[in-house]
Amino acid sequence: MHRFFLPLACIQNEIVFFPTEIAHQLKRVLHLREGQVVIVLDNQGMEYEVKLVSSQAHIAQGQILTRRVAQDEPTVRLAFYLCLSQREKFEWMLQKCTEMGVSAFTPVISSRSLVQEPDEVRKKYPRWQKIIQEAAEQSGRGRLPVLYPPLSLEQAVLESRQNHRSAFLLWEGERTLSLHQALTGIFPGQNQLALLVGPEGGFSETEANLAVNAGLLSVSLGRRILRMETAALVASALVLYETGEMNP
Ligand code: SAH
Repeated sequence: MHRFFLPLACIQNEIVFFPTEIAHQLKRVLHLREGQVVIVLDNQGMEYEVKLVSSQAHIAQGQILTRRVAQDEPTVRLAFYLCLSQREKFEWMLQKCTEMGVSAFTPVISSRSLVQEPDEVRKKYPRWQKIIQEAAEQSGRGRLPVLYPPLSLEQAVLESRQNHRSAFLLWEGERTLSLHQALTGIFPGQNQLALLVGPEGGFSETEANLAVNAGLLSVSLGRRILRMETAALVASALVLYETGEMNP
C-alpha cells in the first residue's frame, strides 16, 4: 500500500487533505481512484489507513479508516555523521541508509571533503530531504530520518560525543577494535549510537586522533578499504543486525 508522510496540518479529525503535488501523484502517477486506500503518516509516530473520497488532478481528500502507532520503525536511534563527498555517492548513502533504518544524518565538512562551503551544502537540502522522504515511504519507515545542518569535522566530533552515549569513528586505519566488538560492548542496553564516516579521501591521522581524543571509539570494518558509501551501508546494516532490527 502506498505510504505518504504528510504535514500534521493535513490531518484534521477524520479527514486528510492531500497537498497538491501529492494529489497529482495519486491521480496522474499512481492512477488511484476514489475508494482506494493509502497509508498516511504524520511523522509523530502515528499512521492512518485513508480511503480516498475525492481524487482530482489538483485536490484530493481522504477519510481516515483506522489509526495506529507506526509499526516498523527501528528502536535503535542511529545517527550518521557523513563526510561530504561526490553528490551521487552522498545521495546514494542517504537513500540506502534511510532504507536500512538510520534516524539522523549530519553532513560533515572535513579537510578532504570536496565541498567546503556550508552555504553551498545547504542549497542541496531540499533535494536531499526529498530523497530521504521517498526512501522512507518506499521502505515503510514510521518516521522520517532528520537531516541536520552541516558541521565541520571538529564540530561533528564534539557533537557526536555530547549528544549520544556512544560515538564510533569508522577508521580504515584501526587495527585493534572491530565494529562487532564495539557494538557488543554497548548493546543490548543502549538504544542510540553515533557513527562518523570519512570522505573518499579518508580521515587524516590528525583527524582520526582528534576524534579519538574527543572520546570517539575508533572501529574497523575489516582489512579491506571500503568506499565511503559501502562503509556507510555496511556499518548501518551491521548495527541494525546487531540490535535485532533485521528480524521479520
Ligand atoms: N581513500 C582512502 C579510504 C577512504 S574510505 C584510502 O584509500 O585509504 C572512506 C571512509 O570509509 C573512511 O574514512 C572510513 O570512515 C570508512 N572505511 C572504509 N574502509 C574502512 C574499514 N576497513 N574500516 C573502517 N572504516 C572504513
